[in-house]
Amino acid sequence: MPRPAVFLDRDGVLCEDRADYVKSWDEWRWVPGAREGAAALAEAGKALVVVSNQACIGKGLVTRATVDDIHARVREGLAAAGAPLAGLYLCPHTDADQCACRKPKPGLLLQAARDLDLDLAASTFVGDALRDGDAAHAAGTRFVLVCTGQGMRSLEILKHSAEESDRPQRFHVARDLPQAAKMILKWDRTGYARPPEYGAAHRDDAD
Ligand SMILES: [Mg+2]
Ligand SMILES: [Zn+2]
Repeated sequence: MPRPAVFLDRDGVLCEDRADYVKSWDEWRWVPGAREGAAALAEAGKALVVVSNQACIGKGLVTRATVDDIHARVREGLAAAGAPLAGLYLCPHTDADQCACRKPKPGLLLQAARDLDLDLAASTFVGDALRDGDAAHAAGTRFVLVCTGQGMRSLEILKHSAEESDRPQRFHVARDLPQAAKMILKWDRTGYARPPEYGAAHRDDAD
């Protein structure tokens, strides 16, 4: 039986987003509440899968070995909080590589679904960027935009481009990962609620 997953973007959802990339474990700062939010989802039986663009590797700013070391610590920190990861998928490429995995492409999610036998239609992607939403849409998962990281900026961009944009206009918004987790777990109890039309000044209330 394919199982439901919650895909988690890394920068801006789990750790604070840095314009110059997280280049070492010293630069990693957990977003407050992120581990607890992830743990609530894991306890409810969701497969937790991180899907992350790390163009810093392709740009030669950080080695793959360093990123792998950071991710080993991330896995440890999450597991210690009760949120062991089912998988962690990253794209090391830059736009110039034109790969199939760099978000907004859905490659990372599709690969995870194949490897881990995930039910994409019953899964949710939690991210702070519009390209996360685009990847979710292309993979056929639900999407929750969080306001941490670049989330507020993403909302602003959407507001101004809603007319001409072909981006999916319906999506959920949560303050942060803990609130996104509450929303997702509420859907388990009451059924999935179709997201509001963007621009209706609606903010999902999971509290
Ligand atoms: Mg992000
Ligand atoms: Zn890639």
